Amino acid sequence: RAVSAAVSEPFVLDGTPLAVAASVGAAPLDGAATSREALGHADLAVRAAKARGGDRWLCYAPELHGEVLGPQQMQRELRALVAGDGARAGSADGVGRLVVEYQPVVELPTGVVNGVEALVRWQHPERGLVRPDVFLPLAETAGVGAALDREVMRQALHQLAAWDALGLDVPHMGVNLGRDSLREPGLRGHVLDACAAAGVDPARLLLEITEHDELATDAGVVADLLALREAGVGVALDDFGAGHASVGYLRRWPANVVKLDRSLLPSVAPVQPHPAMLDPGDLMVAVGSLVHALGRVLLVEGIEDDGDLAVALAAGAQVGQGYHFARPMPPEGFIAWWRACGGAASVGAAAAARGSR
Ligand code: C2E
Ligand code: CA
Ligand code: CA
Repeated sequence: RAVSAAVSEPFVLDGTPLAVAASVGAAPLDGAATSREALGHADLAVRAAKARGGDRWLCYAPELHGEVLGPQQMQRELRALVAGDGARAGSADGVGRLVVEYQPVVELPTGVVNGVEALVRWQHPERGLVRPDVFLPLAETAGVGAALDREVMRQALHQLAAWDALGLDVPHMGVNLGRDSLREPGLRGHVLDACAAAGVDPARLLLEITEHDELATDAGVVADLLALREAGVGVALDDFGAGHASVGYLRRWPANVVKLDRSLLPSVAPVQPHPAMLDPGDLMVAVGSLVHALGRVLLVEGIEDDGDLAVALAAGAQVGQGYHFARPMPPEGFIAWWRACGGAASVGAAAAARGSR
């Protein structure tokens, strides 16, 4: 705001009064993985400020991608990217390719790798690495959400087989299924075919699903998931405790793993605001005992520091995931990380203290 105000101060040049308007873009550094990405975000914010008429400042937000580039164009590009029944899915000239990053999921409190979660990104020739929050809603609108999930599953299962061949012991691969995938007929066949094509035991695959109100009563989806469970495939309820993920969701879906959303962790919800209010940590412990009483595995996501880890351990989480252990990494990065730590993340001081008790 100060820069904008200073620049727009009128001035006189060779006797002529002039006014100059500036468009300013800002980006928070903690919203980006690298300085290059942060600069890209700031640049995008400037372009969005100009697109809104200029003479203003804007702070980066993921929605600005669509605003600057035009959602229609992004949808066209996404269609091209996943077109053709997977024939050349994952890459198309001029629109880049889909890449998958892998974030370790570790056993608590040992830090031994229990698996990874596959997280899609769009490597675009001009826009760089585009985050899923930006393009997944557009992929769904463009009608290619299910094809995109299938491509991610294909890449992820082949990646798991490649790690096996290198001697990395990664027991499980978590893959996200969006609403379109769940709604698509033949889910069960697609999933088992993908495992067979990669030569991966279905028991090593974990399907991560989130609550969708309109699917809750869809018997076909539940029957497919039940058949997959019988074939050994795991099902995780994702984002439990956030948004729509209600207790009823535990009853409706045949899940063996519950992924607790990070919204109750101390790094997000730090204080008990008033004695009459619940402490978020106490709530985590209570939710943990609910999950355990139901015989489900508790996974706490988004563990960022020792404080978060202490709460996850107090809640009895068997597995955890978060920047505290490792960020999502491209395949080569994951191999390097694995070799550096021997397949076991450091779990830090809180776990060590707990372990010695
Ligand atoms: P999600 O399934 O809840 O995935 C976890 C998200 O949290 C990931 O964001 C991950 O990078 C981020 N994360 C991990 N550890 C931490 C941490 O310690 N702190 C914080 N603040 N964040 C952490 P990402 O990769 O941007 O993915 C966003 C969402 O996009 C995912 O949320 C998932 O819902 C969706 N998504 C990603 N890949 C796919 C896919 O292949 N198919 C579908 N349908 N959805 C996907
Ligand atoms: Ca997930
Ligand atoms: Ca989640």
